[in-house]
Amino acid sequence: MKIIVTGGAGFIGSNFVHHMVNKYPDYEIINLDLLTYAGNLENLKPVENRPNYRFVKGDIADRTFIFDLFEKEKPDMVVNFAAESHVDRSITDPEAFVRTNVMGTTTLLDACRTYGIKRYHQVSTDEVYGDLPLDRPDLFFTETTPLHTSSPYSSSKAGADLFVLAYHRTYGLPVTVSRCSNNYGPYHFPEKLIPLIISRALADEELPVYGTGENVRDWLHVSDHCEAIDLVIHKGREGEVYNIGGHNERTNLEVVKTILKALDKPESLIRFVTDRPGHDMRYAIDPTKIETELGWKPKYNFDTGIRQTIQWYLDNQDWWKNILSGEYSGYFDKMYGNR
Ligand code: NAD
Repeated sequence: MKIIVTGGAGFIGSNFVHHMVNKYPDYEIINLDLLTYAGNLENLKPVENRPNYRFVKGDIADRTFIFDLFEKEKPDMVVNFAAESHVDRSITDPEAFVRTNVMGTTTLLDACRTYGIKRYHQVSTDEVYGDLPLDRPDLFFTETTPLHTSSPYSSSKAGADLFVLAYHRTYGLPVTVSRCSNNYGPYHFPEKLIPLIISRALADEELPVYGTGENVRDWLHVSDHCEAIDLVIHKGREGEVYNIGGHNERTNLEVVKTILKALDKPESLIRFVTDRPGHDMRYAIDPTKIETELGWKPKYNFDTGIRQTIQWYLDNQDWWKNILSGEYSGYFDKMYGNR
């Protein structure tokens, strides 16, 4: 089995590459990544010399490059993680999101259609469903919840999902889609909430929290997400969507306070900043389908997972300090003005 994993130098993609390289020594795992600001080959250090792993640098939206690669490699599967993934960046530069997330996906789908494939898997997000009201804790996203996006990011992901499902219906392409809630864990780029708060709290810097911090996210440890995708690509039914989430709902403020407590830092570091335009209030996944159909169950609860994740950031300070000292720090200054 030869699998092209796109975006394998990013947060979730690199965790997935580790998972697959370790679990399936007979598979050939090709990591295809453009190495944008979010792609980091340091994430692949533990597997870079394995015989069943290779890295290829390239752009999923470059049709000539992708078709040449498929001609040469003839992959059995594609698992597409590659994306512009940060909502804030999508608000300042939506076009980059259309290019990679929509056009990159359709380029991969066209290559799969041309060269044939056993499975194309699209890694998507619960954000395609929009948000839920805070005063209706009884509501959850299911796979049949209508798509109702809020941000340019989620709109580009929803567009990609629709193309993937259309290629199944129109051309019979063997596809699956998974829509996961917010991930946390090792190798999470430090512009996202959890690593941002850990890195800034350790430096006793102010901690920017949008609005009043009441927005609710449903957190899942990245290795539970990787296990779920592994199940979907091997056992999921073609043309189907699977929601992935572990019922770990927390407000952003609760998450920040949990991290401060674990690091023994004061809550006075918290600084409420002007809310993100169009900020979604609550995400919550109903994972019944993947649990009952494929037998998936998350291993981590949030309290254990977050403790281990904080410890990982403490043990791997060089990893995130290298990132913060590079291009990212300029971006942060532009967004928040004080690093
Ligand atoms: P990330 O930003 O950490 O990684 C994205 C990777 O894609 C980077 O390595 C980047 O270099 C690469 N990339 C970007 N544009 C590319 C292009 N044109 N060609 C090739 N490679 C390109 O993102 P992440 O958080 O790991 O998310 C991975 C996927 O999972 C995304 O599709 C995202 O929408 C989805 N997702 C993320 C979360 C989350 O909580 N992070 C939750 C649900 C779904």
